Amino acid sequence: MKTLNDLLPEGIRTVAIAGHVNPDGDCVGSTCALYLYLKKTRPELALSLYLARPTDDLMFMDVMKEVSFEEPAPWSPDLMITCDTSSLDRIGCGAGLFEKAERTLSIDHHVSNTRYADETWVEPDASSCAEVLFYLFEEDKIDLPIATALYTGLIHDTGVFQYSNVTRRTMEAGARLIGMGVPHTRIIEESFNAATFGQQRILGWCLENSRLYLDGRVVASVCTQNDMARFGVEAKDTGSVVAVLRQTTGVELALFLYETEPGTFKLSLRSNSFLNVAELAARYGGGGHVKAAGATLKGSAPALLAEVLGTAAAMLEESDV
Ligand code: AMP
Ligand code: MN
Ligand code: MN
Repeated sequence: MKTLNDLLPEGIRTVAIAGHVNPDGDCVGSTCALYLYLKKTRPELALSLYLARPTDDLMFMDVMKEVSFEEPAPWSPDLMITCDTSSLDRIGCGAGLFEKAERTLSIDHHVSNTRYADETWVEPDASSCAEVLFYLFEEDKIDLPIATALYTGLIHDTGVFQYSNVTRRTMEAGARLIGMGVPHTRIIEESFNAATFGQQRILGWCLENSRLYLDGRVVASVCTQNDMARFGVEAKDTGSVVAVLRQTTGVELALFLYETEPGTFKLSLRSNSFLNVAELAARYGGGGHVKAAGATLKGSAPALLAEVLGTAAAMLEESDV
């Protein structure tokens, strides 16, 4: 079985770890777990962990004190490792180091990984990058902080073990981590369920303003910066909207467009059974997984919505025949 050490080049001294833009729970959990595991098992390495600042609910781990949240001045690590990051343009904080690094390694679970690194270890059937790392780590070397970071990654990418990306292997990883004593209820409550009042209200607003399209097969909602300002929230506070839209009875596709900068919209896509949303997102330069994908688009909200609905209609029609 492959272990993490098999993926590391010999003779390295300095390692930079990074994740993707707008880090989610799997991105934070997997990068932190990798950092802590290397710190423990390879004490001779000088490690740096770069992350864009996540939402407050992902800041609870002690290791967050060791994270650099600012883009570093250029330097050349012997090895740069990205976690949960499917393409070069998705690297978040620390992206400037990628081309300066002597060697690069991508550890990921995105089917759309573009193999942009010197070495790629991608497991598209794994629920999360945290699951990939759990099985690359030697289990007896996983301590409580590492287990906590891995568990955080697992629950965020699986919606607490409910999505179709969950397998027996996912549950076994979760079970073994619980066996190690992770405070699982607290992690779920504080990092997954908890929402600020503003986050709750923008969710409610986005649901109220959602519409059904294409004979009820698609549900969509749009949120501009003006809308967010009215609730005192930012783009990253809308993270739970698309998952709730997907639960609408009879819907195959949930589509959420939200404005991250004036005139720039993030497209979040979820499907329920047959539609490959990674393919739909790829039409707009994005990517992701078969049932959860995204892209970044420029334009006005109504025009973008019409455009994506047109593509979705064609794809749904194709799958009808
Ligand atoms: P999200 O809707 O942001 O939760 O993203 C769902 C999935 O799509 C995640 O696995 C992301 O990695 C991927 N994804 C989201 N946005 C993009 C993008 N702009 N480009 C490529 N992949 C994306
Ligand atoms: Mn992610
Ligand atoms: Mn992930």
